[in-house]
Amino acid sequence: MKYVLALDQGTTSSRAIVLDRAGTLVAVAQQEFEQIFPQPGWVEHDANEIWSTQSRVADEALQQAGATASDVAAVGITNQRETTVLWDRATGAPIANAIVWQDRRTAADCERLRARGHVDTFRDKTGLVLDAYFSGTKVAWLLDNIAGARAKAERGELAFGTIDSWLAYRLTEGALHITDPSNASRTLLYNIHSNAWDDELLEILDVPRGILPEVKSSSEVYGQITADLAIKGAPLAGIVGDQQAATMGQICIEPGRAKNTYGTGCFFLLNTGQEARPSHNNLLTTVAWQRDGKVDYALEGSVFMGGAIVQWLRDGLGMIESAPQSDVMAESVDGSDGVYFVPALTGLGAPHWDPYARGMIIGITRGTTRNHIARAALEGIAYQVADLADAMQADAGSPITELRVDGGAAASDFLMQFQADLLRIPVVRPTILETTALGAAYMAGLAVGYWESVDEIAQNWQVDRIFEPQMPESQAIHQRARWSEAVERAKGWERGADA
Ligand code: ADP
Repeated sequence: MKYVLALDQGTTSSRAIVLDRAGTLVAVAQQEFEQIFPQPGWVEHDANEIWSTQSRVADEALQQAGATASDVAAVGITNQRETTVLWDRATGAPIANAIVWQDRRTAADCERLRARGHVDTFRDKTGLVLDAYFSGTKVAWLLDNIAGARAKAERGELAFGTIDSWLAYRLTEGALHITDPSNASRTLLYNIHSNAWDDELLEILDVPRGILPEVKSSSEVYGQITADLAIKGAPLAGIVGDQQAATMGQICIEPGRAKNTYGTGCFFLLNTGQEARPSHNNLLTTVAWQRDGKVDYALEGSVFMGGAIVQWLRDGLGMIESAPQSDVMAESVDGSDGVYFVPALTGLGAPHWDPYARGMIIGITRGTTRNHIARAALEGIAYQVADLADAMQADAGSPITELRVDGGAAASDFLMQFQADLLRIPVVRPTILETTALGAAYMAGLAVGYWESVDEIAQNWQVDRIFEPQMPESQAIHQRARWSEAVERAKGWERGADA
């Protein structure tokens, strides 16, 4: 068998990647699909379109690779997390559009649950905060708002799944209704300590047990693909959520190893081994994956505006024509000249969690130029990540010794160097930045013996460049203190908007 196929079902596009044993990308096919915004704050996807784009790119990738199903040792799924689908078990038809993780329609439901004193129960059992981001309240919303849904669910006629479940169901023509712990741990319904759906949580959220998928491990042969695709007959053998997949793709397989993805937002995960570390610093505790009978956990924190601030410089301000131009501008000056840019355009994520914070550029003088602003914007990404890293280390009780990076904005040498300067540890960028696909492929390939061990796959991980701290430490400390002052001034700004 020559290849492994990763199905990477993301928020804006479906991708399929054919990989070989060395982790080389042999073929990549990608297709975007519609983002549906029915009301302010609502975000939906058509689950049928997710399936049709995903199955089409799978066929395309195989064709590009000149391969057939008999060349494919295993297929792995990685997916946008938390996005919620309910479908009819008899017909396989979704009962409504999928509610996407970004959707805020259940924010008031979460508020009510918090007011009823459920915060600690959810934090203790699921490692999550009670937020509309996660699947639980989205499931309840669908059951309560789609005509007849709750009655059908009570009769066992409906199935719930995150996108991994939905794809597994379609790939096997309804034979499998499964998920893995990395996805289950994002639903608010799953107890990450007992590794099972939790009756108390199901009752609080009013979700009937009968609609839930069976939780399998992240790496095992679940069944054979029977749908009429080029991969028909290949084993489906891996399921893992996108950020956890990237963590595996970065070979952060030992406690203390951390990765940060610099995409639209930033996602920072720290492997804490077989110990689920509770957070006292507003991070999430989550399952990294379950493999060989063992569960690995991670601490996770996210920043809302990562590379997106560079997009805003381009599209919002028209200050640059392309993202890499921001690097050139940043490097054309020696420093930000005392300018700090807090990229809180949509509030602040972990560890600050302030939905009322707004973007702020402070310290502007007559000498300030566009180059300083561009530099301050990139620095603002790195400061946010440094705040996350502090929270991680406090929760983990041990220092992070290096940070592995990926995502679109990790291409910026300036940003990576500044990150190393702030964190005071090496920032390591691998040659293959498609870590999400790699992680899904590894889970599937390990399950069928395509790769013998994680030691073997670890050899596929090669360094492109290591950024060592260069700025004097005293300067880093001073600048971080100034940044913190700036953040404090940006916090709560929107609260005054209606006064
Ligand atoms: P996502 O998967 O969230 O869509 P990507 O990992 O593809 O994101 O990264 C895209 C982001 O990276 C964009 O927001 C873009 O502005 C940013 N980006 C890309 N190249 C650079 C660069 N050279 N310097 C800074 N930011 C960049």
